Amino acid sequence: MAVISGNDEAAVLHGPRDLRIEKIDRMEVGDGQVRVEVHGVSLCGSDLHYYADGRNGSNSLTQPTVLGHEGFGVVTEVGAGVSQDRIGQRVAIEPAVPNGTSPLSLSGHYNVCPSVVCFGSPPNHGLLRQSVVLAAEFAHPLPDSIDDGVAALIEPLAVAAWAAARVGSVLGKRIAITGAGPIGLLVLQTVIALGASETTITDVAPARLEVAAALGATATLRSGEDALPEGAFDIAFDCSGHPGAIADAARSLGPAGILALVGVPGRAVAEFPIGSVQRWELDIRGCFRYGPSAFADAIALAGSARVDLAALVTSSYPLAESAAALEAALTDPTQLKIVIDTTSRGPQ
Ligand SMILES: [Zn+2]
Repeated sequence: MAVISGNDEAAVLHGPRDLRIEKIDRMEVGDGQVRVEVHGVSLCGSDLHYYADGRNGSNSLTQPTVLGHEGFGVVTEVGAGVSQDRIGQRVAIEPAVPNGTSPLSLSGHYNVCPSVVCFGSPPNHGLLRQSVVLAAEFAHPLPDSIDDGVAALIEPLAVAAWAAARVGSVLGKRIAITGAGPIGLLVLQTVIALGASETTITDVAPARLEVAAALGATATLRSGEDALPEGAFDIAFDCSGHPGAIADAARSLGPAGILALVGVPGRAVAEFPIGSVQRWELDIRGCFRYGPSAFADAIALAGSARVDLAALVTSSYPLAESAAALEAALTDPTQLKIVIDTTSRGPQ
C-alpha cells in the first residue's frame, strides 16, 4: 500500500451529502499510544445521519470531519511505554476513549464519562482514513479466526455484548427484542449464544425478520401487525429507539422483568407505562456504547463462531467510493452492514 509521508488519505464530510476524499495530516504517536493502519470500517446509522443531515441527535457537523467509528487495522508504530511486540498485530479499534484517570473511569463507568472523545463524532475525526493513533489498551488484539471482511463489526458486536452484560445473565431467559437492524440482530445472536431459552424479535421490515429467523430467532413479529404478547418475557432489549416500540417492550415484560434501552430514542421524552414498572418491579437499564470488557467479550463471541458477523455484511466498497457506500446505505433497504475497505484505493 502506498503511504504518503506526512499525509493520510481520508473521507472528509464537509456538509450534508458533501463527502470528499482528501489528504489530511497524520496523527503523531504519543506515550502509551499506538498507530493503527486502518484496514476496514463499517458504516453505522450515526454516519448516515451526519452524511444526510449534517447532524446526529444533538451533535452537529461544525467543521470538515472524517467519518467512521467502527474499524480495525494493524499496529504499525508504538509510543513510549508500549511493547514493540504489538507491531504487526491485527486489532479492533475501541473508538470512544476516556481520560483513564477520571473518577468515572476509575470506578468502571468509563463509557459514560464526559471526558470521552469518540472517533468520528464531529468535530473529532473518525476512522475513514489510512491511519489513526489511540491509547494502546483501546486497540484490542484480534484472533486469526475473525476475517478482515467482518473485523470492523466487532464494534457493533461490542454494543450487543455490553447490553447483554447490563442485564446480567440471559441464561434460560425468555427474551424480546424490538428492532431487527444490525444492533438488534447482534443482540439476538449474542443472547442465543449466552443461553437464552426463547427469543422473539420485532421489526417493520420483513426482510430483516427473515435474517433474524435464519439466525435462530424463536419467533418474528411484524411491528404494527402482530403485537408482542404482554407479560410474556423476562428481559426486553429495545434496539429501535422508537418510543412506541419501547413502551411495547415494557408491556411485554413479566414480573421483575428488565428493560434494556439500547437504541438511541427518537424522542427525549415519551409516554411510558410507569404503572407496570411500579406494580411489577421492572428494571430499566440504559446501555451506552460499551464498557469494561465488552470488546474482549465481542472478540470471544465472534472468534469462536458463536456470532456470525458475515451474515450482516451486505456490501463492500473502496475508500474512494465512500460517498457511494453511504448513498447505498441510505437508499437500499436490503443493506444491513456496508464495509469500506480502506486499504483499497479503488478507481482514482
Ligand atoms: Zn456504530
